[in-house]
Amino acid sequence: MAQNQRQLGFVIDLNKCMGCQTCTVACKILWADAKGMDQMWWMKVNTMPGRGYPKDWEQMGGGYDGGGKLVLGKKPTVEEYGVVMEFNYEQVYYGGKGSQVHLAPIDKPEWGPNWDEDIGAGEYPNGYYFYLPRFCNHCWKPACAEACPFHAIEKRAQDGVVFIDDSKCAQCRDHVCMAGCPYKEIFFNEFTHAGQKCNGCLPRIEQGVAPACVRQCPGRCIWVDFLDDEQSTVYKLVKQWKVALPLHPEFNTGPNIYYVPPLGRLRLDENGNVEENSSHIPLEYLRSLFGPGVEQALDIIKQEMAKRRKEPKEPSELLDLLIARHWKELLGPFTSDPAEVKALQAEMEREQ
Ligand code: SF4
Repeated sequence: MAQNQRQLGFVIDLNKCMGCQTCTVACKILWADAKGMDQMWWMKVNTMPGRGYPKDWEQMGGGYDGGGKLVLGKKPTVEEYGVVMEFNYEQVYYGGKGSQVHLAPIDKPEWGPNWDEDIGAGEYPNGYYFYLPRFCNHCWKPACAEACPFHAIEKRAQDGVVFIDDSKCAQCRDHVCMAGCPYKEIFFNEFTHAGQKCNGCLPRIEQGVAPACVRQCPGRCIWVDFLDDEQSTVYKLVKQWKVALPLHPEFNTGPNIYYVPPLGRLRLDENGNVEENSSHIPLEYLRSLFGPGVEQALDIIKQEMAKRRKEPKEPSELLDLLIARHWKELLGPFTSDPAEVKALQAEMEREQ
């Protein structure tokens, strides 16, 4: 595996994500729309707390133990991703029964992607949930790559993107890579029998175009850039301000998606009064996701918010970064318009 010299990083602000799934759809249409990919969502936005996609992925294992030894976990089943639902379109739209029969799945499904959307946890009036966009973390130490006996998964030196070399993927049916990845970001194509995963929108970034999920997000909550560029927002949020944290760092793969944790709203006491300095999202739960640095990250954001609220107002570089008034700030060096990049158009046509 190449020793990577540079690494792309992503920051996702969970205070801005509204769960609209635009990133999910942008990715699905672009990359996971071919035969055998029905159950694949390289990008997805899960409701947290929740069982997620695939179901209970956080308990499936994989990654590295504390001593740096590869741990093989469980390979998700198609049912855990959620079988593709067939609907009674024929009956409703063409069978002349549209006024009596409602649109519904033909076989009663028991699980599907985002099955538990917006359920969350907690008791009224302090029930809570938030959205967590997820895709491959393009880890510093990709357990998927170490697990693959055919060395078909590589990490690029120039940007740290982890990708599957189709010419080396032996379609072994064992798919140990799926067991190695603790985030369950490798998928099995039932038609080609090959492993597939998020490729970091490689054809786009090579042409200076931001990944589809970043460019399409209407909430302006995803940034991409090189982690070693000290002028970049990604660098500033991760390394300078330390308000963006990796998900489940205890999996020990060194993930490169960093999350600005959700502040939550203020809790209400039994009389319906607001509890000052509280959050309806339990800190313990956030710690279980983002590690011990989460409390400090939240405190820093709150301190910066207080500076902007007091009179006279004080400037806050952090809040200016998080607000992202200028859309192209989110795209790092990848600001080219995909519609104007001819090489990209040709590449996408070849893929289809
Ligand atoms: Fe590999 Fe999983 Fe890390 Fe992606 S998230 S690089 S698939 S171990």
